[in-house]
Amino acid sequence: MKKVRTRFAPSPTGYLHIGGLRTALYGFLYSKMNGGDFILRIEDTDTARYVDGSVQIIYDTMRDSGIMYDEGPDVGGDFGPYVQSERKSIYTEYAKKLVELGGAYYCFCTPERIETLKDDAGNMRYDKHCLKLSKEEVERRISAGEPYVIRQNVPESGVGSYNDLVYGEISVDYKDIEDGILIKSDGMPTYNFANVIDDHLMGITHVIRGIEYLSSTPKYNLMYDAFGWERPVYIHLPPIMKDAQHKLSKRNGDASYEDFVNKGYVKESIVNYIALLGWSPKGNVEKMSLNELIENFSLEGIGKSPAIFDETKMKWLSGEYIKAMTMEEFKKNAYEFLKQSKAYGKYDEDKLLSIAKGRVQIYSEIAEKIDFLEEFGVYDLALFENQKQKASVELAKQILPQIKEVLSTLTEWNNQNLFTAMVELSAKLEIKKQALLWIMRIAITGKESTAGGATEVADILGKEKTLERIDYSISLL
Ligand code: GLU
Repeated sequence: MKKVRTRFAPSPTGYLHIGGLRTALYGFLYSKMNGGDFILRIEDTDTARYVDGSVQIIYDTMRDSGIMYDEGPDVGGDFGPYVQSERKSIYTEYAKKLVELGGAYYCFCTPERIETLKDDAGNMRYDKHCLKLSKEEVERRISAGEPYVIRQNVPESGVGSYNDLVYGEISVDYKDIEDGILIKSDGMPTYNFANVIDDHLMGITHVIRGIEYLSSTPKYNLMYDAFGWERPVYIHLPPIMKDAQHKLSKRNGDASYEDFVNKGYVKESIVNYIALLGWSPKGNVEKMSLNELIENFSLEGIGKSPAIFDETKMKWLSGEYIKAMTMEEFKKNAYEFLKQSKAYGKYDEDKLLSIAKGRVQIYSEIAEKIDFLEEFGVYDLALFENQKQKASVELAKQILPQIKEVLSTLTEWNNQNLFTAMVELSAKLEIKKQALLWIMRIAITGKESTAGGATEVADILGKEKTLERIDYSISLL
């Protein structure tokens, strides 16, 4: 069997959005599960849509997300160049061949004539006017320097069919396909031409791309057939929706991979979640590393219906990755986000991160989870009342001075010692340990719920600050 070769062929038009990254991911997974090659090709022939810097964004995003290619503009390979604007002469050569084969023709129609072909809605269907020009006339007009385009010669009747591995049998009437432009007047190819030439010359066996190309594929097949080339296998992917009506798209300002990374999502969770947008794994397991995705991916699992992008679910997945991380990894990844907290720089970083770890799904939630340490002030004394924990304002009044007493004599200030001392005190006072810890937490934070237990928080605050806050709380009571 031929070696599987897939490609990701983005146009450099800005950030790499979620849909684009999913296409890349599926191409990557399919090639890797088959021991094949994954190729990156930059499709930059539409100069009007070109955005400076976006090629670099594509390289960076793919590296950063782990969806790495074997061949591409910046890594090389035997089938280059991998940037379409550097392949102009190749397209010209093949366009000429296609004209000779009858699959295309030169068209000299002026913009004014094209204008007259438009219907009321502004839609244009080219009328094959230039198809009847003789070879001699074409040559004469080209030599005379007349501007021209090259158009595909689509049969006026008949049906183009192929079998898409996701959508099944696709048939399109040729009468519904127009003689589209293959080479523009500036000599640049259109996507419609370049994708065929490149996929063939680069040895692409499986074309994996968005559903928007499903119905144009018969016209690409006409070219494969005219050249006598083997058609690739086609796998078109279902759209990704923001909700039932709206497609997720960068044009609507929807978030890109980079935006989600900046928002504090665990990178692996973004890739993992994107894999599930249109593909369902066989078992129930949804949390999968890139290697596990390679092991489990299958074309049969790709569905036809639109996938809904559910950020809440991605956030949940991100939280699962955080839970599974070692403290070391968490620290490395979360550090930049820790800096956004008011508590940053004031307390032991490891301890701050350790109380935050179990409580956040994305890194950017860290600040809001630990800011409380720096937000102590007047609070509602009713917070001491908690029937379930058997705590009350009255009890707080009685035991806070004793808590203070024990804490002030504690020599080694750490969570373990603090906890032991508080448990011993509760036994001595014959009250529930939960009641004591509840009262202690309120007294040193003014909040009924915080990241970290009462003694963990006291450990972070340090002896001096803890005692100060208890004094303050005693003064309120
Ligand atoms: N350049 C096309 C796009 O960005 C690629 C389509 C394809 O994969 O063939 O939509």
